[in-house]
Amino acid sequence: MGDRTDVPPPIVLLGGGHAHVEVVRRFGELGLGHQILLVSPSRHAPYSGMLPGYISGKYGFDDFHIDLAALCARGGTPFLETWATGIDPDRRRVKLESGEDLPYQLLSVDIGSFPSLPEGIVGGISVKPIASFTDRLSRLDALCANGTPLRLAVIGQGVAGVEVAFALKQRYRQHQIQIALVGRAEQPVPERSRRTRQLVEHEMQAIGIEQYAAFDVVDFRDGTLVARDGRRLAVDEVVWTTSSGAPTWLRDTGLGLDASGFIRVDDALRSVSHTDVFAAGDIASLPDPRPKAGVFAVRQGPLLAENLQRCLAGAALATYRPQNFWLVLISLTNGRAIADKWGLAIVGGWVARWKHRIDSRFMQRYR
Ligand SMILES: Cc1cc2nc3c(=O)[nH]c(=O)nc-3n(C[C@H](O)[C@H](O)[C@H](O)COP(=O)(O)OP(=O)(O)OC[C@H]3O[C@@H](n4cnc5c(N)ncnc54)[C@H](O)[C@@H]3O)c2cc1C
Repeated sequence: MGDRTDVPPPIVLLGGGHAHVEVVRRFGELGLGHQILLVSPSRHAPYSGMLPGYISGKYGFDDFHIDLAALCARGGTPFLETWATGIDPDRRRVKLESGEDLPYQLLSVDIGSFPSLPEGIVGGISVKPIASFTDRLSRLDALCANGTPLRLAVIGQGVAGVEVAFALKQRYRQHQIQIALVGRAEQPVPERSRRTRQLVEHEMQAIGIEQYAAFDVVDFRDGTLVARDGRRLAVDEVVWTTSSGAPTWLRDTGLGLDASGFIRVDDALRSVSHTDVFAAGDIASLPDPRPKAGVFAVRQGPLLAENLQRCLAGAALATYRPQNFWLVLISLTNGRAIADKWGLAIVGGWVARWKHRIDSRFMQRYR
């Protein structure tokens, strides 16, 4: 546990997500760090954009983790290293794993999302929460280290799944390991441009990543993945990068949620049901929905910081307008990456170097 003050700060931030680190930084810079308190289960918050680089061996643990305790200490913000397990928005209290009830005037939730596995499946290795994936990766290392040929399946054909598949291929390049990308779409990264889909398929073929498209996984048991249409695939281990879900405890809070359990917010990032609750990042369900991607959480940070201050002062809130086009950078192997925006795509070593600069600049802001 971090420092506690007798009178808790008026604003409680749940989760050290991409939006909240910016809120902590800005409040600190303005000398208002004492007005907020951050709760997160680990002092190290991972930056997902650099996870593929960590898997492939390009980055170390510290390169892609923000030290929340240090960030908070710099701005005079108390930090509690624990999980939130519930919210009572009518009593304005957060329930902590420690059993404590934490009061707030304003609450902001940026706790990310979790993989939603097909019902009943418990096996395999989930990429989320990323914070603990680094531990689960060592399980894979141990499996791969014994020298027998293995087949790994990465489930999920989104950007995360593709990047993880390429990164694992690079990490285990000295081992006899076959990697398969599995998912229900006909092609990888179905939500990106046609050109990007082609480039990804081409790169996969070039380095020998197998593709099991239109394979809607309904079961994983005794080393066999089963698709809805009955196809079966024998694998030694699976890595789940499937689409995002919300923690189930949110359903007991009385907060307005969307059908998938994410907190519904208005265009000021404020809960539609409780005016003293804000949400940002993956956990927020926007009036004009966007995919669950860190780029939105990052963009929401400054506006969230502004609106928390305005709300405390009783001023009118600013409006968040999510961008219609956003840059997606997909790391491949051998120091190359794909850039995708406006339906266009380009691949090369310079794209990977550009991505490195963007990611490093982001991390630098919180060091
Ligand atoms: C491999 C991979 C690569 C990706 N690459 C990209 C990319 O290149 N670009 C992109 O835009 N998106 C990318 N994404 C998506 C991106 O990870 C998420 O959209 C982004 O992390 C969401 O940020 P967030 O602020 O909502 O939450 P997160 O960054 O997930 O942070 C949530 C925080 O809340 C904490 N927390 C969770 N539960 C609780 C609780 N109960 N109480 C207190 N604290 C809690 C967590 O410990 C964590 O610190 C990638 C995802 C993966 C898996």
